[in-house]
Amino acid sequence: MFIGMDDTDSNERMCTTYLAALIARDLEAAGFGSVSGDLHLIRLNPSIPYKTRGNAALGFEFLPAEDTAEFRNRLISFVSEKIAESAETGCEKTNPGAVFIFEDAGSELKERLDSFFKKAVTDVIEITEAEQIVSAYSIPHLSLKNGRGLIGALAVCGAMMNPGWDCTYEYLAYRDPVRWGDQSVSPRVVDTDSLIAADQATSPGTWDTIDYSEKKYPFPVCVPSSGDPVLFGIRGESPEIVRTAAEMVVSEPVYFSQIFKTNQGTDAHLLPIQSAAEMIPLHSYILEGTVVREVQTNEGGHDILVLADDYENLPECAAFEPTGNFRKIIRKLIPGDKVAVYGSFKNNTLNLEKIEILFLAPDISFENPICPVCQKRMKSAGKGQGFRCRTCKTKSENKAETAAVRKINIGFYEVPPSARRHLSKPLIRMNNHDKSENEE
Ligand code: ATP
Repeated sequence: MFIGMDDTDSNERMCTTYLAALIARDLEAAGFGSVSGDLHLIRLNPSIPYKTRGNAALGFEFLPAEDTAEFRNRLISFVSEKIAESAETGCEKTNPGAVFIFEDAGSELKERLDSFFKKAVTDVIEITEAEQIVSAYSIPHLSLKNGRGLIGALAVCGAMMNPGWDCTYEYLAYRDPVRWGDQSVSPRVVDTDSLIAADQATSPGTWDTIDYSEKKYPFPVCVPSSGDPVLFGIRGESPEIVRTAAEMVVSEPVYFSQIFKTNQGTDAHLLPIQSAAEMIPLHSYILEGTVVREVQTNEGGHDILVLADDYENLPECAAFEPTGNFRKIIRKLIPGDKVAVYGSFKNNTLNLEKIEILFLAPDISFENPICPVCQKRMKSAGKGQGFRCRTCKTKSENKAETAAVRKINIGFYEVPPSARRHLSKPLIRMNNHDKSENEE
């Protein structure tokens, strides 16, 4: 059977990854059967306003020890009670949901949940759509408060029932519950040097452990700062490599750890489109355009890039202040450059996650000409009268055209790890011929 769950945490407490891992362990310990394969941590549409943090849904396949209706019901009650007990239902945004889908559910439901999963990652789904599926296929479920969690719960089951999507892994180490909560009372103890050593030993197979970008060096981006149960998380290409890295980390006692299969770092949320006319709020896109004006930095330190496709100007593309050095790259773009932008469209702005520079326009400027005799710059000879050398009086009609060297290259540039969205594919995962290192 497939068990999917979502929406159990608040901004400050709990974490559905922790709860799912705990429930999987408790089910086994209580003799209900055994987990089959990987626990799944599926990230859904990153622009959804209902999310508390990273819009994650959790699930696992479970092999029940007995195949009777009575046993199934006991198992479902066991899981439902655990979720109801632990979920932060006092939080306005927390609307837990869980679904239980048995192997005999049929191929029609499998296909329906495949498209539901893809829609949940890229699009916006109404609760009624999830409720219709649950009701049409008589899926046993838990739905607390407005039941929005059913959306994520069904989506993660769709992912598990239809494997084959690009995946990565994350090793999550959890804190002892007595240490959860206010970071000023019990700050996380994780040795940064050991994280650097783990990163250097396992990169490029792992990523986003340390952010080496300006100012924050060496910022341990894999250690959260909220009051939730996670101590640190190591992201990487395989279960083996994330485990190898995690075993090098020196920290406070780890309560328990869990490796998840995930769609993090895959760009699954991005829809390639041809024209700005296709853009809908709360969706994420890849789109090509030509820079139409100088990049402008606004009061908040956000850099605004304006592009046009073949038909019209795109909505503004923003490199927000937390994207740090990425903004320096954006500022080097000039009118005529061609780029592909990657990001989410919200509040009439495309929030840049990365760009690919496809073409660099020549950076032409016009200056007074140099005197061919004296090698000195000429002065204006008066309005409409060209230029004249002050020393030898040599004349010239026109300004001289100069092309400045562009201090940027064709290729991909991305935001630093601390500003990266869970679903964004880091350049380290892209083919070497596709990527260029970020400059500065
Ligand atoms: P948690 O750790 O509790 O899962 P989170 O940051 O992942 O925290 P949630 O608390 O799960 O966010 O809130 C996201 C809510 O939005 C969930 O109820 C989920 O079912 C719902 N949701 C996810 N994707 C979509 C979507 N594409 N359309 C509509 N609702 C969605």
